[in-house]
Amino acid sequence: MDMGIAGRHALVCAASKGLGRGCAEALAAEGANITIVARTEQTLEETAARIRTSTGVAVKTVACDITTAEGRAAALAASGQPDILVTNAGGPPPGDFRTFTHEAWSAALEANMLTPIALIQATIDGMIARGFGRIVNITSSSVKAPIDVLGLSNGARSGLTGFVAGVARQVAATGVTINNLLPGAFDTDRIEATIVAQAKATHRPVDEVRERRIATIPARRFGTPEEFGRACAFLCSVHAGYITGQNWLIDGGAYPGTF
Ligand code: NAD
Repeated sequence: MDMGIAGRHALVCAASKGLGRGCAEALAAEGANITIVARTEQTLEETAARIRTSTGVAVKTVACDITTAEGRAAALAASGQPDILVTNAGGPPPGDFRTFTHEAWSAALEANMLTPIALIQATIDGMIARGFGRIVNITSSSVKAPIDVLGLSNGARSGLTGFVAGVARQVAATGVTINNLLPGAFDTDRIEATIVAQAKATHRPVDEVRERRIATIPARRFGTPEEFGRACAFLCSVHAGYITGQNWLIDGGAYPGTF
């Protein structure tokens, strides 16, 4: 299926690795020119070079921390007026809710709520003026089913979800859609780090922890950044104009509810 976004411009945040990179690659494969953002210049440039070679699209890079005002300003200056915005940043650390400090909450809110909101505010009027826009926020399955050790993620991402639910309806008649993608367990550095930490804490072999985690997923595997990216590309396509304000769970069937 032709997604109809060749020549469009996409700003994809936190995209040198993992799910953000999956989205950047899928959008580039559809012919969208992209600006990708991540903190580590070398990894970012390697990802950019691979995407340029495999797709031939224009790829700009901005090495910055997207959760800072300076980082967001640099990303927006490089991308100009994007037609497509994919928001993403690192997730907050796990912990006991009793120990979360005000600083920890501020960092989580900045990364997983206020940064996406600021980027939406900065880009949405340009999209409305041009009559086309696609905004996809990478959130988490923790929005739908809280994860006990990820209280910071459960809370901060739910704030973004509530904001998006309102704004998506306010702009729905303008050609701009806003949706959230909720990853379950995906095969990225982040999940590997979680598994290694859990193995260390419980004195069990890493492979055993990984296998046990996989056994809890009806699909009996982790998702891939490639399939996550393809879902993102579809939401950004011309075919998805009637899908807005939605929370798409991509979790191999892990959420046990009917709806
Ligand atoms: P990852 O560690 O594989 O990749 C993270 C990417 O984000 C890297 O490119 C890194 O450079 C970039 N990044 C992180 N913080 C940044 C910042 N402040 N500014 C700019 N770039 C930044 O992580 P991932 O697995 O792809 O996860 C992406 C998001 O999805 C995270 O918020 C994570 O919590 C969430 N998530 C992931 C999973 C999973 O299973 N992988 C599940 C649920 C939620």
